[in-house]
Amino acid sequence: MKTAKFEILGLEIPIGKFQEYHDDGLVLYIPFKAEELSETYASKGGIPPCLYALNPSGLAVSHESGIWPFKTQHVHIFYKKGVCEPEEFYVRAHEETHAISMLGKLGFLERAIKHKLKLKKRFRSLGEELRANVGGAYALLSRGFSVDQIRETRPADSTDIALQILGLQ
Ligand SMILES: [Zn+2]
Repeated sequence: MKTAKFEILGLEIPIGKFQEYHDDGLVLYIPFKAEELSETYASKGGIPPCLYALNPSGLAVSHESGIWPFKTQHVHIFYKKGVCEPEEFYVRAHEETHAISMLGKLGFLERAIKHKLKLKKRFRSLGEELRANVGGAYALLSRGFSVDQIRETRPADSTDIALQILGLQ
């Protein structure tokens, strides 16, 4: 069985025959990497154009290669070096959560979270960004970081809601 390994979330998930997951690691500038992948796959990969301008700390993109019926979905994540270890873990787990969503495998992450923590809302009913923040907070909690350390790591507004969903606020 083919699987994809999500290092920071600590998950290995079965994926389809025509799916590939790539953790491209650290990059210096997110938009350049996004552009490079668009050229490699000759497609935009559904990246909202505003993200190029925002210079985010990480990105997950999905592209297709090949021709029908052998089209393969390639999901990539990449991220910038964080100012501290928890920030880097948070961003990576956030992007890993987007990638799992793009691969249509959210059920595996939802079950892993429920195994250790509460989940006050259905995972699928959350918005994409909020869900990715829940993934980021979950990864830090399962690595032994405290709620206070998580709050110090990320902007309070988005993190607080994620922590509420995990029953920790
Ligand atoms: Zn995001």
